[in-house]
Amino acid sequence: MIYNYTGIILGKYNIGEADRIYIIYTLEAGKIRAIAKGVRKSQAKLAGHLENFTLSNISVAKTRGMGKITGAVAENNFSRVKNNFEFLAETFKSAGILNKLVKEEEKDERVFNLFLEFLKTMNSKNAISENSIAPSFLTQGFIFKLFDCLGYKIEANVCVKCGKSFSQEGNYFSAERGGILCRNCAAGFKNRIKTNANAIKIIRIFFKNNIKSLAKLRVEPKDINNLRIISQEFFRWIA
Ligand SMILES: [Zn+2]
Repeated sequence: MIYNYTGIILGKYNIGEADRIYIIYTLEAGKIRAIAKGVRKSQAKLAGHLENFTLSNISVAKTRGMGKITGAVAENNFSRVKNNFEFLAETFKSAGILNKLVKEEEKDERVFNLFLEFLKTMNSKNAISENSIAPSFLTQGFIFKLFDCLGYKIEANVCVKCGKSFSQEGNYFSAERGGILCRNCAAGFKNRIKTNANAIKIIRIFFKNNIKSLAKLRVEPKDINNLRIISQEFFRWIA
C-alpha cells in the first residue's frame, strides 16, 4: 500500500551502508519515520528532496513495520534559512523540540501548520537580508505556541494560583503550575523563574497572534532571554 504525505523533514540518521531513516512531520499522520534505501549513493536523486526542514510530497510504501520512501518531490527547501548560520541553528532547535514533544502517528494539523508558518516566516525575503527579525524571538514564539497546541498553554493573564492581576514586578513563572504566579503566591514555590513585566506581555501577545505578525515586533534581547529560560524550564518539565 502506498501512502502520500505532505511532510517536513525533522531529522535523519544513517543506517546500514547506504540507507537513511527520516523523521518527518506530516500533515496527514503527524510524526512518522520512514526508510530510504540506497539514498546515500552518489547517484541517488531522492536525498535532495529530503534535506532537513524541506517541505516535500513524499510517497511511502508500507505493509507492516517501518514504511519505505519510494518517491519525494520538494515543494520548498527554505534555502535562505539553510544559508544563514543563526537562522539555521534556531530552526534546528525548534525542530528538535517539536520532535521531542510529539508522539508518532498522532495527526495534528495545527502543529503542522504552525511549524510550516514558522519556516516560511524565517525564510521570508527580507527577514535575513534586512535583518528585520530576530530568529531567536521567532523561535520562542513558535515554542510557546507549540506548548499551547499540545495542551500546555502557559497562563499569563492572571496569577495561575489566586486568579488576581499581576503587579508590575515581582512575578514568577512556575512550570509545575503551568503559568505565572503573582508576588504573593510565588513565595512558597521553589523552582520559580523571575519573569519581568515585558515577558508577561509578550507571552500574551504570542497566544493572540500568528507567527507571521510576531515577526513585526521589536523585542529587547533581555526579554527574549527571559522567555528562553521560561520555555526551557517548561520543556524540561513536560518532556
Ligand atoms: Zn496569586
